[in-house]
Amino acid sequence: MAKPIIGVAANESQNPGTVLYEMPILYTPLGYTKAIQEVGGLAMVLPISEKAAAKEYVSQIDKLVLAGGQNVSPKFYGEAMTTADSTFLARDEFELALIEAALLQKKPIFAVCRGMQLLNVALGGTLHQDISQMKISHMQDPIPRQVATHKIFTEKGSILNHIYGDQTMVNSFHHQAVDHLATNFKETAWSPDDVIEGIEDQQQHLLGVQWHPDFAYDALPQELSAFRYLVESL
Ligand code: MN
Repeated sequence: MAKPIIGVAANESQNPGTVLYEMPILYTPLGYTKAIQEVGGLAMVLPISEKAAAKEYVSQIDKLVLAGGQNVSPKFYGEAMTTADSTFLARDEFELALIEAALLQKKPIFAVCRGMQLLNVALGGTLHQDISQMKISHMQDPIPRQVATHKIFTEKGSILNHIYGDQTMVNSFHHQAVDHLATNFKETAWSPDDVIEGIEDQQQHLLGVQWHPDFAYDALPQELSAFRYLVESL
């Protein structure tokens, strides 16, 4: 059987530092591609491109991964920016076009952190621009990325319940979160301080997680299991 081709939407850095001669680069965290390969998928990195190219990129893949990164521009959910953090309009626009193409072509989407936030926005939801405005302390930095620092609970019958059980611990490197959930999604994981940590639309094969399985796939077996579910079942 052919290996499923998993497209990972890439990020860019205009200046990755002196080790790479301060040269603009395309990148994605190795955690995505290594984990996908380890569980039997073929990983394909998709560069930020013209929106018009999204359809053709999606036609080349079986499933789409939206990775972590910059804040989603709040203009896509009709708000003015209330934080000083960076956004990256070209990435937002291309990934929104990838989402649209994936929905049309009925290709599953696994969305991580920013990816989950963008997916919620793409389908009509909104975000908390800064969860510190929710008066909770949620970001774990500088605790190492492989360490799970907060509990989540999962909904019975959900994909996340199947992968992670009724409750588990996850890492937390986000300072934005879902506010209004897009109507087609179900909230299927949440933290004790009431942050939406996982969303699903099982009918359309959409799965979003607020934590980073890519940060811990080689340290925590359940995070590799999330990639196995992506490759084999989503
Ligand atoms: Mn969290």
